[in-house]
Amino acid sequence: MEQTKKCPSCGGTMIFQPGFDSLRCQSCGHKEVIPELVSKIPVDELDFLTAQNKASHDWGMEAKVVTCKQCGAETIQNKLQLSGLCPFCGSTTVETADPAQDIMAPDGIIPFKITEKRALYIFKDWIKDRFLAPELLAENAQLNKFYGIYVPLFTFDVLTENRFTGRYSEDGRTLLRCGKFRHQVDDFPVVASKQLASDKLLLNVMKDYRTNEAKPYTPDALAGFPCEHYSIGLSEAWNSVGPDMDFYLRNQACKQNETRYLKGLDMTTEYFDLKYKYLIVPVWINSFFYDNKLYTIVINGQTGKIDGQWPKSFGTFAKKAALFFLGSFGLD
Ligand SMILES: [Zn+2]
Ligand SMILES: [Zn+2]
Repeated sequence: MEQTKKCPSCGGTMIFQPGFDSLRCQSCGHKEVIPELVSKIPVDELDFLTAQNKASHDWGMEAKVVTCKQCGAETIQNKLQLSGLCPFCGSTTVETADPAQDIMAPDGIIPFKITEKRALYIFKDWIKDRFLAPELLAENAQLNKFYGIYVPLFTFDVLTENRFTGRYSEDGRTLLRCGKFRHQVDDFPVVASKQLASDKLLLNVMKDYRTNEAKPYTPDALAGFPCEHYSIGLSEAWNSVGPDMDFYLRNQACKQNETRYLKGLDMTTEYFDLKYKYLIVPVWINSFFYDNKLYTIVINGQTGKIDGQWPKSFGTFAKKAALFFLGSFGLD
């Protein structure tokens, strides 16, 4: 959702200012610190089993869901806000659907720390040695613009009890160890955006948040920034942790005894006391078309970590141009 707030001294529009935990008037520069973002109040962990009844649906404003006709992404915006471009595919064919009253509101927020200017700097540095970078930048104006958006992220806290059997080698012999250990998992992240979770490179950027720095949710931090509606629900998110959690717990097993187990560590895990937080987290996103294919680059709005897709070969247009160029030489 994009919040619209009026400036108390001139009536202009206040928007969130990345890096300053505050709102800034676009007309007169008047600044207001957002109290929630400078508070020391931690974001509550909620009990998973009673989640459905207790979850808040209050976004702190009248909100609407905007659906992109081209890629299907759903964003939540202030009802008064005009719908602009889709940040995921750059399409202008966005369509307003329902009011957002039944959509779970977030418990916490990580505000933008990285400014758009800084994001562009990080991006230019990242593409420096990439294929056709200067040509694509000159040819495609969309590449010079990043969109700021908040993306849904669930984090899970859970107590695990693990039993394992593993082989390891010591002094040239292979030994067997059976063991068990308890481990409290804290803030295990699951990105609740299908758009971003489907790509490994983008996902790595999205797993880089310092979630312990999250603040209680406030609609003020969304002034000027839309928020993506989660496309992966809470239960679905928890059900999807399997392979990642397994990998993480196997590493814990190795740490417990400072042992490097050989392949095929056998482990069973029981889970207790599952809790979660629903956060929205900041990302700068750039989607562009090259040779009819959509490429997406994301920058973590808190840490500045960047990754994404980049063309690896000439597009049809560039190929034709190159052939024409070579051809005109051949005629002389
Ligand atoms: Zn003002
Ligand atoms: Zn779209």
